[in-house]
Amino acid sequence: MNSHFTLSRRAQALTSSAIREILKVTERPEVISFAGGLPSPATFPIARMQEATDKVFAEAPQAALQYGPTEGFTPLREWIAARHSRDGITVRPGQVLVTTGSQQGLDLLGKVLIDEGSKVLVETPSYLGALQAFSLFQPAFSSMRSDDEGIVVDALDEAQLRGGRFMYCLPNFQNPTGRRLPLERRRALIARARAAGVLVVEDDPYGELSYHGEQLPSLLSMDPDNVVYMGSFSKVLAPGLRLGYLIAPEPLHAKLVQAKQAADLHTPSFSQRIVFEAVQGGFLDRHIPEIRKLYGDQCELMLSALQRHFPAEAKWNRPAGGMFIWVTLPEGIDAGALLARAIEDNVAFVPGAPFFAVDPQPNTLRLSFVTVSAEKIEHGMARLGALVREEIAAAVA
Ligand code: PMP
Repeated sequence: MNSHFTLSRRAQALTSSAIREILKVTERPEVISFAGGLPSPATFPIARMQEATDKVFAEAPQAALQYGPTEGFTPLREWIAARHSRDGITVRPGQVLVTTGSQQGLDLLGKVLIDEGSKVLVETPSYLGALQAFSLFQPAFSSMRSDDEGIVVDALDEAQLRGGRFMYCLPNFQNPTGRRLPLERRRALIARARAAGVLVVEDDPYGELSYHGEQLPSLLSMDPDNVVYMGSFSKVLAPGLRLGYLIAPEPLHAKLVQAKQAADLHTPSFSQRIVFEAVQGGFLDRHIPEIRKLYGDQCELMLSALQRHFPAEAKWNRPAGGMFIWVTLPEGIDAGALLARAIEDNVAFVPGAPFFAVDPQPNTLRLSFVTVSAEKIEHGMARLGALVREEIAAAVA
């Protein structure tokens, strides 16, 4: 090879996601993997998507194959605005920007809000994909103290908030922990953010996946002028569509549109029209309860296996929705070293350390349960539990 190029400082700082590296190993069929973060393909509404695609081809094939507006397909933006006009607020279609997955929304927010060294407040731990997206713009992360219920709002003092460009929050069934922020904390957080003049970014791909159906009011509904909301069709329809959206105050929306124009002109007209057809007639309100039921049942299986196979020194939460359980092992146990042994034993999970913007906790790990069969959950957790016991015994010895 004889290629010559000089990487930008930004690119030099880029690293590959630790999770993607692990997923490569776990593709071997003999590995029982709790590492993936993928939704269950059993929930993809294939017949409905086929029907919607047929309708698009029958009714508007040329428009579906043509360029479209950067902001997104107008009827879909209107549908999104109407769906989020609840909890006492009205969302205007002009606030909605359709994005190529909500991951693109994170990148666009980074582009328009972060300068080198800008303070960005994040949860402890936070979504790795967001940390990666923001990192390209070289912010100074500030980690907000969090417990089993999410951000500890009382621990947020003025000094930490001062000068923050935004705080990145995942109030519902957070990735990686499965935590949900209680109502009182939501109110307190919104009040603190407003008083300090810090914009709130609410990333909410799992909000509708509450196992029992009840939803807490969004942060958006509590202060629409100071919150950017991010939604996604990935967990309620299918991630391969790459369809998400931002709801932002109009002046910020305008900037995000400019950034998106430079990035990809617009999100595919084709998938926007198909999704618009698919969601007609209240389809999601029939479909989402099926996802909730499956994920809730899978979560119970995993919790039961944890109870039976993991030692008492390990701690975990009991999620009320979403796709993840977060496990904390005793101090001194390194989940990275545990993973190396687990992979030899054909079982995988994601170590927690990469999810921390600062001060990683190496004794934590994320378990994902939605795509694994009952039998594999049982076998995999028995193996993992045995390894955890061995690691603890070795640490004590
Ligand atoms: N935010 C969070 C918290 C996520 O877990 C994910 C996907 N794993 C995304 C955003 C990105 O989702 P998508 O781009 O598929 O909408």
